[in-house]
Amino acid sequence: SMKAVQVKLVLLGEAAVGKSSLVLRFVNDEFQENKEPTIGAAFLTQKCRLEDKVIKFEIWDTAGQERFHSLAPMYYRNAQAAVVVYDVTKASSLEKAKSWVKELQRQANPNIVIALTGNKVDLVSTGRKGRRQGDGEADEDEQEDDDTVDDDEEDDEDYAVTRQVATEEASAYAQEAGLLFFETSAKNGLGVAEVFTEIAKKIPLE
Ligand code: GDP
Ligand code: MG
Repeated sequence: SMKAVQVKLVLLGEAAVGKSSLVLRFVNDEFQENKEPTIGAAFLTQKCRLEDKVIKFEIWDTAGQERFHSLAPMYYRNAQAAVVVYDVTKASSLEKAKSWVKELQRQANPNIVIALTGNKVDLVSTGRKGRRQGDGEADEDEQEDDDTVDDDEEDDEDYAVTRQVATEEASAYAQEAGLLFFETSAKNGLGVAEVFTEIAKKIPLE
């Protein structure tokens, strides 16, 4: 069998954008609705089999909180790949992602493969207004359709989940900055395997 090439990969991005959930989906094919925040960093491994090679990802999943920022260089130093995650329902998380990309391009390995990933597309891809944040239940056929008329409008404004980052905007930025670009849902799995497979394809065989 083919020998696995080890690749150190780091996940970066604002807290709660879904970094740990993407890793959990990729490694265990699972999702947890109320994932506890990562403290410091977590380490997991997963193999990715391509036609001509096997990549063994050594994944460093970092905490997004500002108080952990100073630890990040420990994880991206010597990394061959980075997944920088934002939340498509939160514009400020793309700004944070851009600042991580800048930091990586200045401080990390110059050959690092960077993938920009807009997560939580399941919240916005249905065409309807979107489910309320904190709605918890993954109930696809919303039974409450009939009694939502009771809800007051302002409430809807506060809790509706709408897309705040257009696909075209993020993909144009990614292209300009030389990044791979994906939109994903750790919740339903959309696009998650592709992120890691496309990174694996870009890792040079030595
Ligand atoms: P992290 O801080 O970036 O590691 O984010 P987590 O993976 O801890 O996720 C933060 C919250 O967002 C958790 O409640 C997750 O269940 C939720 N979450 C993560 N990914 C998705 C997704 O793709 N869709 C939805 N709807 N929720 C998600
Ligand atoms: Mg986390």
